[in-house]
Amino acid sequence: MSGDPFHATRAHDGRAPDVFHPGGWVPMRQYRESEPVDFAIVGTGAGGGTLACKLAEYGFSVVALDAGPYFRPLEDFASDESEQTKLYWTDDRIVDGANPLQLGGNNSGKAVGGSTVHFAMVSLRFRPEWFKSRTLLGYGADWPLDWREMWDYYTEVEQALKISGPVTYPWGPPRPRYPYRAHPLNGAARALAKGCEALGINWTETPLATLSAPRGLAHPCVYRGFCISGCSTNAKQSALVTWIPRAIAAGAEIRDLAMVGRVEVEPSGLVSGVHYHRDGVWRFQRARNVVVAGYAIETPRLLLNSATARFPEGLANSSGLVGKNLMAQSNQAVWGRLEHEVRSYKGPPSLAITEHWNYEDKGKDFFGGYSYMSQGPLPQLWANTLFSARGLWGESLVEAMKDYNHVVGLRIVGEMLPQESNRVSLADEVDQYGLRIPRVTYSWCDNDKRLIDHSLKFMSRALEAADADDIWIQDDDTCHLNGTARMGSDARTSVVDADCRSWDIPNLWICDGSVFPTVGGANPSLTIQAIACRTADRIRALARRGELNAAVPRQTSIRQRSTEVHRS
Ligand SMILES: Cc1cc2nc3c(=O)[nH]c(=O)nc-3n(C[C@H](O)[C@H](O)[C@H](O)COP(=O)(O)OP(=O)(O)OC[C@H]3O[C@@H](n4cnc5c(N)ncnc54)[C@H](O)[C@@H]3O)c2cc1C
Ligand code: SF4
Repeated sequence: MSGDPFHATRAHDGRAPDVFHPGGWVPMRQYRESEPVDFAIVGTGAGGGTLACKLAEYGFSVVALDAGPYFRPLEDFASDESEQTKLYWTDDRIVDGANPLQLGGNNSGKAVGGSTVHFAMVSLRFRPEWFKSRTLLGYGADWPLDWREMWDYYTEVEQALKISGPVTYPWGPPRPRYPYRAHPLNGAARALAKGCEALGINWTETPLATLSAPRGLAHPCVYRGFCISGCSTNAKQSALVTWIPRAIAAGAEIRDLAMVGRVEVEPSGLVSGVHYHRDGVWRFQRARNVVVAGYAIETPRLLLNSATARFPEGLANSSGLVGKNLMAQSNQAVWGRLEHEVRSYKGPPSLAITEHWNYEDKGKDFFGGYSYMSQGPLPQLWANTLFSARGLWGESLVEAMKDYNHVVGLRIVGEMLPQESNRVSLADEVDQYGLRIPRVTYSWCDNDKRLIDHSLKFMSRALEAADADDIWIQDDDTCHLNGTARMGSDARTSVVDADCRSWDIPNLWICDGSVFPTVGGANPSLTIQAIACRTADRIRALARRGELNAAVPRQTSIRQRSTEVHRS
């Protein structure tokens, strides 16, 4: 073990933890703070980690900073739900609105690798029409991206993560075969399949970012089910074990325990670097470009906290939309009991899925769609659910827990509509760094409620059809925050353009789930990573055309080769 990851930085002195070897290190390039790097990236999760890798491989100089620790999964992660709450962003936040969001474990991560270190690995493409939902489906806002281009980037990410999925996917336009075979179904997934078949709709094995066969130094999944508590085998293809090692090998520097408090703006109106807190002091990293990739709450918070006399409403905010149009996804569940043992905790939480109601528009009284998946809660999470959703406590809770091995559940990922009133703003209180904390305001609209109602009725029928009894609904849950810095084609109605470049400040970029104009009914991380890959390609193209405040990319091969030599 190499020190306490919360109190001592691990990426320093020209080396970073080797996530594949206990106690091991890999060489890492280090940049001087006083010399501007091409890109300072705030956040190393699905958006920032992917972009750091791609930009470094294209030859740009990159420093990526994360407020969280640099974990070594093989040593730091335990099969213990309580211990693993260390993965979550639990700094103070204020929630309000008619439907206040539950933050913490349910939302963002705080670690090198971001929320992908504890995500559930469901890796879905968006329905093509969602990219033009206003024009084609009559709700939300159009994206400035074309689905065919996204389809290519989805393929790139699926290959990079070796997604395990079915041979043919039942919905949407054809896609290449998934790189790795699908995982076997567990008891919960078989119940989903049975219900779908009885109701006459399609289902399939869930495409997952966990390995169904060995990959290099990473082992295949061993079906222990601790995925959302952090996988200690490295089967999970998080940014921590995929994009970040690639980024370092290509010459990027990662700085852990580095909380960025402010993006600096020069009198010229361009940004010049980031102020960040590390090792007990505030420091400044100069940069030709800054990318904010801190998740849908921390990204607007940083932009708002970086206000100047020239940009009094915060950076990139001439549209007034920074922080607005925050979108959760609805995450309601239906639970039941099967006579035989299900042991649904075995394996990744969601091994089977139906996207029927993402692609079928007939028979809906709402805009948008939802998928639903089989569920596999671990015991502590299950006890919490019984307490918070059913009010069970004491003897009644103990009695209910005796049925744990028979529990079966279905849970939606549902589309919630963008509303300006759902937003992240700054509260007056400050955090441990003296930075104003975020206030997160959220209320469901009527459309959100109709979608939830439809899904709960349909999933109840599906569980009945799977022979479950004692069926009950958990009707207050959300997940996956996106929006707050939407992309668009018009500077008046969006924060960034299709390249994730802010309209107001040409060397300030945003690259995470914040840029989503709509959220669809599918988990977002594959789309975030696909957008990051596209952004990297666009940045390279802009640099080559001289339209970027950065050095023209160098050839990467020499540096990559020398890094590889160094590693061996
Ligand atoms: C329990 C759970 C299960 C999930 N399951 C799935 C799933 O199955 N499939 C799916 O697609 N999605 C899933 N998600 C959602 C997915 O993980 C996120 O949508 C995705 O990781 C968001 O990417 P991001 O780049 O926006 O932010 P993140 O991946 O969260 O990365 C943001 C990073 O920025 C850092 N940061 C923030 N502010 C600062 C700052 N000021 N200075 C320095 N660093 C900063 C944070 O520490 C963090 O590491 C799940 C999420 C949770 C919580
Ligand atoms: S079930 Fe697979 S992905 Fe999940 S924690 Fe275990 S080995 Fe990792």
